Amino acid sequence: MSFSLPKRRSEQDFSEAHPVYSHHDALAEARRCLFCFDAPCIKACPTAIDVPTFIRKIAEGNVRGAAKAILAATILGYSCGRVCPDEVLCAGSCVLKDFPKPVIQIARLQRYATETLVREGRRFFSPAAKTGKKVALIGAGPASLACAHELRLLGHEAVLFEKRQFPGGLNTTGVAPYKMQADDALLEVDYIRGIGVEVRTGFEVGRDIDPLSLLREYDALFIGIGMGRDTRLHVPGESGAGVVNALEWIEEMKTTDHRALPSGVRHALVIGGGNTALDAARALCRLGVPEVTMLYRRTAQVMPGFRHELEAARLEGVRFVERAVVTEILRDGQRLSGARVRIMDEETVLPADFIVVAIGQTKWRDTPMKLPGVELNEAGEISVDPATGRTGNPQIYAGGDATPGMKLVVQAVAEGKRAAQAMHRDLLQHVKGDR
Ligand SMILES: Cc1cc2nc3c(=O)[nH]c(=O)nc-3n(C[C@H](O)[C@H](O)[C@H](O)COP(=O)(O)OP(=O)(O)OC[C@H]3O[C@@H](n4cnc5c(N)ncnc54)[C@H](O)[C@@H]3O)c2cc1C
Ligand code: SF4
Repeated sequence: MSFSLPKRRSEQDFSEAHPVYSHHDALAEARRCLFCFDAPCIKACPTAIDVPTFIRKIAEGNVRGAAKAILAATILGYSCGRVCPDEVLCAGSCVLKDFPKPVIQIARLQRYATETLVREGRRFFSPAAKTGKKVALIGAGPASLACAHELRLLGHEAVLFEKRQFPGGLNTTGVAPYKMQADDALLEVDYIRGIGVEVRTGFEVGRDIDPLSLLREYDALFIGIGMGRDTRLHVPGESGAGVVNALEWIEEMKTTDHRALPSGVRHALVIGGGNTALDAARALCRLGVPEVTMLYRRTAQVMPGFRHELEAARLEGVRFVERAVVTEILRDGQRLSGARVRIMDEETVLPADFIVVAIGQTKWRDTPMKLPGVELNEAGEISVDPATGRTGNPQIYAGGDATPGMKLVVQAVAEGKRAAQAMHRDLLQHVKGDR
């Protein structure tokens, strides 16, 4: 079964920020690479892709070989090539940054190399002989998908349980539409399913399925549930028309045929200072809203959003106001009219006919799922051994946004794959022990 989205979605109104390279542009970019020995870009990639090797293959015209080198390190290499903030990862460590030359566009080359092969469903890897062991994975986001693929490669059965109707996690429902659209995320999920990974959608573990029954039925469990819903502001006037939570709004644009905006929006406010707030603000500009203002309660120096994303947002016309705290959402009858905001120590009223709240997501501690031996840190994330992803329960592993560490697709992929390899070692010991 393939997962089908509505034919018409608001996200289709966005054009791509970085379209795929032409053959000519890819060759020209690849040939600028210095193919460093001991290349820093490999160390800066959480999945340790051999960047110089794949770029050399592109330069030699061997696109298939380049794709294989990428997918061997990360099976989600296609989406990573579209969504990775390479400015702060591999490309951020490119030695060309110390010369008066632009750094190599590693993510764009990665997308170029993987695009056609993933679209055509060409496979490079096949599963090992069956071990008879099976693993249940909770959530079907990047962490679980990477874990499941690696488990299948190693000969284990992998079954993913996803509460939504669509798999792919935030790649499908959250990533800004001008970076990647939901149908491309699902294309990659299909590519991964092609190795024999099973995805069951519409099952919320903790509500529709008892996690303890999964523990009994499967040899091991991987928790890849990401983070929870948007956090609310809890100020007067928040509930009502015109105020949306960022994740719900983005998901609606990506997976439904609902309109992204009511007609005639002129002043939009985005509350928050993270990457989700920046994505929402840029999306509003791209939808043609004349005035988009981001309100962040601290200063730009300490905001969690990436500096390069803030600069890009400013170039697109977003006004950024720091040390701004929203104290009330104002309404004229039912109609949204603005927000009362304290900027530094002064109170002011800003007009608004659309407000996006992007102040963070809830954590694991808010889910109804309880599992023996799985403990949380102070931030509400699942505590794991970072080398293996193992929780306090030796049968249960976790990775991705639900655990401590960078909240990025490539990081979730690295953690999912690492957990699969640790599970494999444990499961094989049991296979030997069973004999
Ligand atoms: C708006 C937004 C934009 C982002 N943009 C980027 C970007 O451009 N680049 C980048 O690298 N990173 C980006 N990120 C971060 C990135 O998406 C995450 O780090 C990554 O998706 C984490 O993968 P995951 O598998 O841990 O979790 P998720 O992608 O969140 O997937 C978890 C899955 O588990 C499911 N689930 C949850 N609970 C249950 C349950 N009880 N039972 C069954 N299923 C369950 C969820 O429905 C979901 O599908 C963005 C994040 C957000 C919020
Ligand atoms: S996966 Fe991301 S971080 Fe790794 S090499 Fe590719 S673009 Fe860079």
